[in-house]
Amino acid sequence: MKDSNLLIQGRNHTFEGHYDSSNQFLYLDTLTGLPNRESFLALLESKEQEAKNHLILSIGLSHTEVINALRGPVVFDSVITEAKNRIMNSLPPEVITARIGTNQFCVVAAYDHFIDAAAIVKVAKEIQEKLDNLFFVDGEEYYIASYIGASIRNYHEYHEQPPLTELVHLSDLAVIARKNEIYRNVYLYDSSIKRSQETLHKLELALRSDVEDQKLLVMYQPIVNLSNQVISLESLVRWHYGGEWIPPKDFIPIIEKLDLIKEMTLHVVKQAAKDWKMWKEKIPTLSYISINISPHLFRHDEGTIILQPLMELLNQYGLSPKEICLEITKNVFIESSTHAFLKKCHDLGFILAIDDFGTGYSSIGYLIKYPFDLLKMDQEFINRMEVDEKLRTIALSIVKLAQKLNIRVIAEGVETIKQLHILKEMGVHAVQGYYFSKPQLLDKWDSGTFDERRNSFFKLH
Ligand code: C2E
Ligand code: CA
Ligand code: CA
Repeated sequence: MKDSNLLIQGRNHTFEGHYDSSNQFLYLDTLTGLPNRESFLALLESKEQEAKNHLILSIGLSHTEVINALRGPVVFDSVITEAKNRIMNSLPPEVITARIGTNQFCVVAAYDHFIDAAAIVKVAKEIQEKLDNLFFVDGEEYYIASYIGASIRNYHEYHEQPPLTELVHLSDLAVIARKNEIYRNVYLYDSSIKRSQETLHKLELALRSDVEDQKLLVMYQPIVNLSNQVISLESLVRWHYGGEWIPPKDFIPIIEKLDLIKEMTLHVVKQAAKDWKMWKEKIPTLSYISINISPHLFRHDEGTIILQPLMELLNQYGLSPKEICLEITKNVFIESSTHAFLKKCHDLGFILAIDDFGTGYSSIGYLIKYPFDLLKMDQEFINRMEVDEKLRTIALSIVKLAQKLNIRVIAEGVETIKQLHILKEMGVHAVQGYYFSKPQLLDKWDSGTFDERRNSFFKLH
């Protein structure tokens, strides 16, 4: 290897480059002739001492992956080359442009004047408008969208400044976080972005290790059958982190993103299977335990990924699928693997519930198409029921329709005796909610309060 002076294409910036064994420059993007990330960072280091104000823009292109997948690398390369030309033509010649990722460019511009948001928008808008125009390759039209992250360093003799290389990272972060939008798809880094990204990063690490170490807890909430008082339980996962209980709506999406939903669900099933015997001692007439099943689990392979280990666990703990209800949220039913999954569950003997029915994309069609035993009427429905007559009418029609289809209705989120009376009157099969009990840990179960509530309601009916 020998050192050499490297001339960056079309511009007059020079910096050290290296030849590799086949006499190729290392660190140079072969398609565009621009510096790649490494050489760009090296170049920035050489500018570190300049007494100037610096603006860094990280420009991400979307849709180019689709172009690559559909039309192949030759078309993709043409689009990228054209994007490079458009970016460079939007900027004065002294601005340095680099290709720092497959579909990502970065520019650094130095100014004598103070850089404010308006100055950033002026440059970013120019680039964005050029990229917004259609691309033509071999007579076909293509459109790409651009996202621009910005970070700035206004020079100050006496203040400590982040290195310019760090600024590249910060402008990347601004695009990733998509916060602090100063213009359409132009995001300016501020320190809160880093803090929130760091928090998320820490949270993800902690969650991953707690799922893997099976540290999540399971709480149970009773479901009370209104005709015979028989109790079932819904298992609800809980995560204790940093001295707080993090609600499932905040951490389950992260678990899904980390691809740990299978591990989490099996942990919940295992815990429920272990707790089953103890619950039976506390509540001898216990009917079943519900498990929430995320759609991610049956999206691709008809749910084999979860059903196989689930059956093994139930065998191991001597439970029958008849004692387990699988609660499925309804807003994903369009996918073809759902049908096969639900049929398999039904054939295996699981009780099947459609969860959160009554809001969002609920469709009566699902009730006919899929083999559900139970319909869980969404709590939003229940809490507005007392004051909204129309809602009551809709709820009543759902109950009647379900009855005709041989599907039993469970009302969720029942908090008041008044709601309970309305629901009983309608012919709802069972209720669940704070009125009877909040979700509880097995060893914190307060049967006294629960029995009192239950007895006082059933004495009246
Ligand atoms: P969900 O399946 O609809 O569960 C019912 C939620 O309503 C629970 O919230 C429960 O604590 C809450 N709730 C029950 N009664 C009342 C009431 O009277 N008033 C009010 N305001 N709320 C009530 P939670 O435990 O925060 O769970 C939220 C969601 O997280 C669940 O909604 C479910 O979709 C999901 N989830 C919980 N555990 C699991 C799990 O193990 N696996 C999966 N995939 N999702 C889970
Ligand atoms: Ca549920
Ligand atoms: Ca629900």
